[in-house]
Amino acid sequence: MKPDLSTVDTLPGTPGVSLLRAKSALRAALAEPRREGRTIGLVPTMGYLHDGHLSLLRAARGECDVVVMSLFVNPTQFGPGEDLDRYPRDEERDLRLADEAGADLVYAPPVEEVYPHDFSTAVEVGGSLTSVLDGDAARRGPSHFRGVTTVVAKLFNAVQPDVAYFGQKDAQQAAVIRRMVRDLDFPVNVEVLPTVREPDGLAMSSRNAYLDPEDRERAVALSRALRAAEEGARAGSLAAGLDAAHRELDAAGIEPEYLEARDPELMEPVAELNGRPVLVAVAARVGGARLIDNVLIRP
Ligand code: AMP
Repeated sequence: MKPDLSTVDTLPGTPGVSLLRAKSALRAALAEPRREGRTIGLVPTMGYLHDGHLSLLRAARGECDVVVMSLFVNPTQFGPGEDLDRYPRDEERDLRLADEAGADLVYAPPVEEVYPHDFSTAVEVGGSLTSVLDGDAARRGPSHFRGVTTVVAKLFNAVQPDVAYFGQKDAQQAAVIRRMVRDLDFPVNVEVLPTVREPDGLAMSSRNAYLDPEDRERAVALSRALRAAEEGARAGSLAAGLDAAHRELDAAGIEPEYLEARDPELMEPVAELNGRPVLVAVAARVGGARLIDNVLIRP
């Protein structure tokens, strides 16, 4: 049987996840827990859940009294020609998995609820943080991050969470959101949790669904390349590590959009290990999927 998609079927604190479509219903459901001083955790997602998403939900379940997952494929973070229309969706399965991982509320608004027809405001983190790597105009561009920060700001306002959970898999996104929270004084504690991987190392991603079996095998070269980069860096030379990483990608016939070492907070280029964490990030098209991955090399 399909779940009833229109109503609140259970309330926070009672077993079973509630599906909410409207901001007003979300606010109503959170009013009492908030009044009682219960902590609220938010896990923003675009759905098609995998273990990466579930790790965020489980962390939220362990740390917060009320766990809200948002499920919204955000059109404003997709550029023209990107995969908005074919982005994988399976709401029924997502609800079941969110329930099993301990979510209390799933907020899955229709597009018009988030972006009414005369919507005309954006939240933008400026500067190099959003104009390099994925923000480079030749790649997804700064408008991708403008879409992300706009929707996350709206979700923060709608849910007013105490804690919001994000994945290190999207390292630049996490840095941009941290900056937005700091700059705009959002009273939200941002937690960034480690990348969850398949047994062979491929970072979990909803977009892995686009990979045919052959490309799925080639795609593991991204994580292999990042491991080579880390090993090279730890052996004494970040440049040599990046060379080794390029060789791994070459061997799999993958040409990266970028493979770069950067400061994980400022996203400025880094030439050598410098006693601070260094982010090595990669993006590449593999068959029908544009994949990203990264490793954080800690001193
Ligand atoms: P998405 O649905 O792809 O927008 O991702 C929702 C959240 O899950 C974001 O904070 C992502 O960084 C996080 N996430 C996605 N993939 C992974 C992964 N493999 N491991 C950990 N977190 C992830």
